[in-house]
Amino acid sequence: MRCDGGGVTISPRPSAAGLGPVLREALGVLSPVRCAGCDLPDVEVCPACRALFAPSPEVDELPGGLVVVSGLRYEAEVRSAVLAYKQRGRLRLATVLAPALAASVALAAPPRPGTAPPVVVAVPSSPRGRRRRGWDPVELLVRRAGLRAVRRGLVALPGRGPQKELDREARRRSRAGSLRARPTLAGLRVVVVDDVVTTGSTLLEARRALAAEGAVVVAAACVASTPLLSRRRP
Ligand SMILES: [Zn+2]
Repeated sequence: MRCDGGGVTISPRPSAAGLGPVLREALGVLSPVRCAGCDLPDVEVCPACRALFAPSPEVDELPGGLVVVSGLRYEAEVRSAVLAYKQRGRLRLATVLAPALAASVALAAPPRPGTAPPVVVAVPSSPRGRRRRGWDPVELLVRRAGLRAVRRGLVALPGRGPQKELDREARRRSRAGSLRARPTLAGLRVVVVDDVVTTGSTLLEARRALAAEGAVVVAAACVASTPLLSRRRP
């Protein structure tokens, strides 16, 4: 075998952040674990926190009438668990958080006799987030929730990473044009799913991108959200 560099690409050694999901999950087994919600030692999620993560769906309405169903409130133990999942790569938490997403989708798109159920489209990670993590948090939650999402129904365009320091209006403007929808969704009813909703700017951008291709977003569903406008119990 020739190793003179002619056409041979040598990949750099992967960093911990770039490890694939399977290896990350395997490493998690070997590390000491603490409750993702309250930090109690030696347990992935303690019984008290597990009870807190039981879905309790609430409905919000974003500007323009987009209905958002969230399974949990994004605060305290729920926030800790979501961050442990997304930022620290504790992938097994997907199983704990997924029921909240499943419950939200069920409420966002109840079966209607004689009508095909809406298709599920996931909000994708930004290209930068995907590179950093090596996996997509929403994609995994969708799978663990037993949902079937349209593959690459939405695609994130490069150079439009999340900008947490911006206020709601600035975030909305910065998001504009950051997603592109699959043209084959034209004419279909869609439920958009995401992990966490804060200002709702990403969901509104998702609706814009889908509408541009002729799809109709009937609602959005997420694992957890911060209090938004006009929150009400279903
Ligand atoms: Zn706990």
